[in-house]
Amino acid sequence: MEYDIALLPGDGIGNEVVEATIPVLDAASEKFGFEFQTTWYDWGSQRYLQKGEMLPDTAYDQLAEHDAILHGAMGHPDVPDHISSTEGHISIRREFDHYINLRPAILFDSSLTPLKGVETEDVNIVWYRENTEGEYIDVGGRLNRGGSTEIALQSSIYTKEGIRRIAKSAFRDAKTRSKKVTNVTKSNALSHGPVFWDEVVEEVSEEFPDVRLENMYVDAANMHLVQRPEDFDVVLSSNLFGDILTDLTAAIVGGLGMTPSANLNPNNDYPGMFEPVHGSAPDIAGDGIANPLATVLSSGLMFDDFGQSSAAAAIREGVEAQVSDETAPKTPDLGGSAKTRDVVDDLVTRF
Ligand code: ATP
Repeated sequence: MEYDIALLPGDGIGNEVVEATIPVLDAASEKFGFEFQTTWYDWGSQRYLQKGEMLPDTAYDQLAEHDAILHGAMGHPDVPDHISSTEGHISIRREFDHYINLRPAILFDSSLTPLKGVETEDVNIVWYRENTEGEYIDVGGRLNRGGSTEIALQSSIYTKEGIRRIAKSAFRDAKTRSKKVTNVTKSNALSHGPVFWDEVVEEVSEEFPDVRLENMYVDAANMHLVQRPEDFDVVLSSNLFGDILTDLTAAIVGGLGMTPSANLNPNNDYPGMFEPVHGSAPDIAGDGIANPLATVLSSGLMFDDFGQSSAAAAIREGVEAQVSDETAPKTPDLGGSAKTRDVVDDLVTRF
């Protein structure tokens, strides 16, 4: 079997962490007997600064040719964030209708969490964030720009099918896990979209009688994730709430350097896009100290998507063994002083 992977490192540490992941792909392919080829695409903020576009016109057609996209991050201090994201990776998610943003947060070693008394078995959360509608649909406008009566309007869209398909994905996964879905909502204060969201989630839950639905307001979820992370397993949310709270779950498991993500649509033929939850981190870009593990773990989600579950498991086990080994190299965000490259060199010896 041979896989064709598009490498889209993007900006800042995106370049360092994607490059660092390649030896892990090599080690996995050697051990598990498959092959892969890669094509490197240097699109992102540098292109925007030179040509006024984050991606070329042909980007989607080129990316669609591959089996998967391994992405780093997009963002640059000289490019407004709303441009680098909406015209960069968010546009790819939209074009390929990646309605699932899967964001697992696993505590691989208890030393990594800032929470007192929390052990590895307490945190294994998988977040199903709706990824194509909700608050991130880019519909709105500004009136009277610059004037004292200026107005901004930002709309959200929730569609029945959009809610159904992400809810079904979460419930299906919950059947194989703890048989509980926590639906994060704000239907007490937002009386249209989120109330509709809850109604559709409730309807979907009736198709899964063996899975318990728990509804939780986003403010309470924020608090309970810190106080009792062990009560969360499969979490379902709209786009904005998932974006915000998965930085919190990242902090609980050791920071942004530890959390991977997958952008998926199992119903179409477009490639999935796999990327760390973190951004381009311009403050440390170029220093060679970025933690590569979030991107390495994202490649594990890519192998899951390919059906190479042994390779995916080996990546997670390798990361677990490394972060639990006091003598192993660790980047500064995990309290060590190692370089990105040291972490990968050590990791490939654990396959
Ligand atoms: P962007 O504008 O692209 O979102 P950002 O710096 O605002 O970038 P993140 O990159 O998500 O946001 O990260 C916030 C901070 O977390 C960074 O400034 C960096 O210090 C730290 N960080 C993020 N990812 C990593 C990583 N892989 N390794 C080490 N530190 C990281």
